[in-house]
Amino acid sequence: MERDQVVFNLIADELKRQEEGIELIASENFVSKQVMEAAGSVLTNKYAEGLPGKRYYGGCEVVDEIETIAIDRAKKLFGAEWVNVQPHSGAQANAAVFLATLQPGDKILGLDLSHGGHLTHGSPANLSGKVYQPLFYGVKEDTGLIDYEQLEETALREKPKMIICGASAYSRDWDYARIRKVADEIGALVMADISHPAGLIAKGLLNDPLPHCHIVTTTTHKTLRGPRGGMIMVGKDFENPWGIKNPKGEIRTITQLLDLAVFPGTQGGPLEHTIAAKAIAYGEALTDEYLAYAKQVQKNAATLAQFFVERDYKIISGGTDNHLMLVDLRNKDISGKEAEAVLGKAGITTNKNMVPFDTRSPFVTSGVRFGTAAVTTRGVKEAEIIQIGELIDEALLNRNDDAALNKIHGKVKELMAQFPLYK
Ligand code: PLP
Repeated sequence: MERDQVVFNLIADELKRQEEGIELIASENFVSKQVMEAAGSVLTNKYAEGLPGKRYYGGCEVVDEIETIAIDRAKKLFGAEWVNVQPHSGAQANAAVFLATLQPGDKILGLDLSHGGHLTHGSPANLSGKVYQPLFYGVKEDTGLIDYEQLEETALREKPKMIICGASAYSRDWDYARIRKVADEIGALVMADISHPAGLIAKGLLNDPLPHCHIVTTTTHKTLRGPRGGMIMVGKDFENPWGIKNPKGEIRTITQLLDLAVFPGTQGGPLEHTIAAKAIAYGEALTDEYLAYAKQVQKNAATLAQFFVERDYKIISGGTDNHLMLVDLRNKDISGKEAEAVLGKAGITTNKNMVPFDTRSPFVTSGVRFGTAAVTTRGVKEAEIIQIGELIDEALLNRNDDAALNKIHGKVKELMAQFPLYK
């Protein structure tokens, strides 16, 4: 077969785009070469339904070893007692948790999408909001911080079966102990979705959900810097006081139910090439080098947030504890959609985002989200993150001047040429 130059040329175009641009999408990162090599390996050829040592296919000796390494490293990294590394994505991990622990129609309580929550936490557009009965808590309008009183009042009144914490666009840490306390009062399960700050949590830079939440899910490709994928973890809560049953009507532990909900509940064969890449990424994340990286991600985010505040940008909650910030553009007379497009012209990639109590639609929005995980991987530190802030401000001020935006694009390329990718 001839090499498919059509597709490979496009992949080369994408590499160029990534190399030349400033990547500020909070959910993206750049994996190492070895993570990428594993993700593109012969393991993509292998079927391995089941779990290590208990497969439905022959020839799984090697992938069993690989998946076991991934599980062991994930346990060590997060201090988890039990892990399933097979979910194909964060959405799949969450769907498997719901299938394992809820019945259709059960109430779930999550953070409102427009306040920073995720689609899979009860949005009517997602399975979680169609199959289950979603309830929401939000952030306080004056502080931008999670409204724990509202969460508690709603939980006590509505008695949801599950409380979901974690977000896609919330820049502050979580009080997992407080959420567990109210959950225990009503006999609810707590699921923490740490997709965004997982890498910072793993290195002890943010509160640890595992001692407090029954189940923790994450994606593996954001701050954690692994391949695109998902994972489910349990700390100590193996028991099943709710008497939740498996499809045969038998009562099992939470972890047995979770394994069954991943396969065969919501997935077929695991992606062993991705699992090998996860194993490598977890190995990388166990190093002190990664700890230094995670600390720099946090420092860069705090520096960028401070820069924006000084330039009269409104940051929801006033700053950040993690890798991201949500900028409310309502005092700048520009929508999130327009800001995303203007910054795109200047070679700065971001995403528009609703701000709490937004009056614009999700397609337009009044905010933009910035994250520092990807640029920090390239070696950007405080001095350059301020330069990046200046380029953003300059682009937004010159939003209607294509020549000025072109010039800024040139400066963006020059800056990022100092931080080569995959050299
Ligand atoms: N959960 C949270 C909090 C997220 O931010 C995301 C992705 O942005 C997901 C779940 C879904 O992950 P995936 O895109 O891998 O399905």
